[in-house]
Amino acid sequence: CGIVGVLGNHEAAPILVEALKRLEYRGYDSAGIATVNSGTLDRRRAVGKLVNLSDLLVHEPLPGKSGIGHTRWATHGAPTIGNAHPHRAGGVAVVHNGIIENFKDLRGALNEKGITFQTDTDTETVALLCEALIADGRAPIEAARETVGRLEGAFALAFLFEGEEDLMIATRKGSPLAIGHGDGEMFVGSDAIALAPFTDQITYLEEGDFAVLTRNSVEIWDQRGAIANREKRQIQLVN
Ligand code: GLU
Repeated sequence: CGIVGVLGNHEAAPILVEALKRLEYRGYDSAGIATVNSGTLDRRRAVGKLVNLSDLLVHEPLPGKSGIGHTRWATHGAPTIGNAHPHRAGGVAVVHNGIIENFKDLRGALNEKGITFQTDTDTETVALLCEALIADGRAPIEAARETVGRLEGAFALAFLFEGEEDLMIATRKGSPLAIGHGDGEMFVGSDAIALAPFTDQITYLEEGDFAVLTRNSVEIWDQRGAIANREKRQIQLVN
């Protein structure tokens, strides 16, 4: 129900949890984060309140300066740890708001390739499809773009990749997503309010936009595949 992300210069976990707290008003049943640390992708997830995730992180810290986070409002699959985001397949981690309407068709096609599913969610399909394309030889950005091109429904998505500490993909169709520009840092959030402690320089993605982020750059393609020039605004955030 809420997405956040950071390519930063500080530990990502506390930033992600703080940003997720600011999205709590949207409601959620579980939460999780993933980071890339020295190339390695890993994640922590917990059912219930964000404090459960924070407690877990005390006992099982998740180092790394690049990360994505999610609060989930389950639509497909019970609110369990296994169904909580980020979803992971091989070297791909994904957080998702919304519903992938054609996930059964996509799942069927992946099943035919012998790919098996660990969860009951529509979202896992996105991670598995992207990972399958990487296994077929696509680079991460290409794989994500092709994956997103096959999705029907409403979604905001953020992708993180093993071995890629300076890369995040952010895309939206039917669900909101904002990019926050820091000083040598880049953020994403479902709502700019999530990013208020970190930056007030915001770019709102438009319907169908696909953004490739690094710490120092943002490239956005519109839904027709043309380079899009989206405004960066300084916004006034209360609290
Ligand atoms: N459809 C996804 C799920 O049930 C995402 C729900 C959400 O927006 O939090 O896991």
